[in-house]
Amino acid sequence: MLIVQKFGGSSLASIHHIQGVAKKIREGLEDGQQLVIVVSAMGDTTDDLVEKAYAVTAQPTPRELDALLATGEMQSAALLAMCLESEGIRAQSFTGAQAGLATTADYGRARILHIDPTPLRHALEHGTTPVVTGFQGVAPDHSIATLGRGGSDLTAIALAGALDADRCEIYSDVAGVFTADPRIIPSAVPLRTLSFDEMMELASQGAQVLQTQAVAYAKSHDVVIHARSTFSDSGGTIISNRTPGVKPAVTAVAINRHIAKVGLVGVPDAPGVAALLFSRLSQRGINVDLVFQALSHDHLNDIAFTVEDKDAAAAEEVARACLPDVNGRDVVVDRSVAKVSAVGSGMLGRPGVAAGVFQALAGAGINIQMIGTSEVKISCIVARDKAEHALRRIHQAFLLDEGQAVIED
Ligand code: ASP
Ligand code: MG
Repeated sequence: MLIVQKFGGSSLASIHHIQGVAKKIREGLEDGQQLVIVVSAMGDTTDDLVEKAYAVTAQPTPRELDALLATGEMQSAALLAMCLESEGIRAQSFTGAQAGLATTADYGRARILHIDPTPLRHALEHGTTPVVTGFQGVAPDHSIATLGRGGSDLTAIALAGALDADRCEIYSDVAGVFTADPRIIPSAVPLRTLSFDEMMELASQGAQVLQTQAVAYAKSHDVVIHARSTFSDSGGTIISNRTPGVKPAVTAVAINRHIAKVGLVGVPDAPGVAALLFSRLSQRGINVDLVFQALSHDHLNDIAFTVEDKDAAAAEEVARACLPDVNGRDVVVDRSVAKVSAVGSGMLGRPGVAAGVFQALAGAGINIQMIGTSEVKISCIVARDKAEHALRRIHQAFLLDEGQAVIED
């Protein structure tokens, strides 16, 4: 049995924590498992390094910023390998480059080009447990490139795929994925299983258990993920394609407060308006989430869309610049909104789920400003100060706190 185990920053926050992780690794090895370990930086190290870089200059060179950030993971990999060795367990640290992880040179958001896990296989054959730095690879010009924040998840999943491991265990300070964020809804229940699609929606809706790109990679390479806690032995969540046949309509709910709504008001109802606006947004690298266009009246339309908070100013600028070209009246920006989503692959082909979500919000007197759906989710944009209440209502309406979503095979 070959398992890739990834330990997050909070599991490695101090020397004491690193010793705890070493103990966990020893237990796995004693159970006869072959392990490849992937580590994040200790605690808030990455944030601290980012802060240092911006203390030096307002615009750090992307290549050097990556060279700096990558050192966080190098520290924890070397320390954990040392700790294992001191306990008589053969271990060796590997940087991304040493582990054979080749990426593009898109610093800060590099994509994986290919993986040659020969050095890791070699170590395993010699009874050595590799401890690999997460979050980084080597670009074609041999510089270090990082995979984006939270990228250690991607490293672990990609290595599990390349090594054809039995599964990838992602250890953090939470016991897997819950029906809702337990800090907002204390009665939230841990989920035993989730599909890749459900997890992808939840991750991109703001559930912070796993990086979205990592889940997408797991889906395309069919890597089974086990999200679990370093600090407890409770079951955790298995994310795979092999989820039980009968599923509840809604599996979990999520909230995203970091969004803004931008509206282009009173534009003529003519072809090409949306094409112009959204191509300019994409040229600026702005990611648009929900889009809403009302039925036109008097040959005029309103087009509204949501973006991440940090992109709101740039999106407003783009929309304003479009006004004269499309003969629009005005641009409005609303930063006091949030998105609540109900996610579940069981809603596929089951009527009435959207109605259930809308009724839950109506019952609480919460106005829905925009709606977006996919095969496995229903999202509503609501006033930010009502969003937590909205989340609780949906969680309640679909009986999630009664363990409705936790179905056994
Ligand atoms: N240390 C990096 C970060 O904080 C990568 C990771 O933890 O996955 O984003
Ligand atoms: Mg981290």
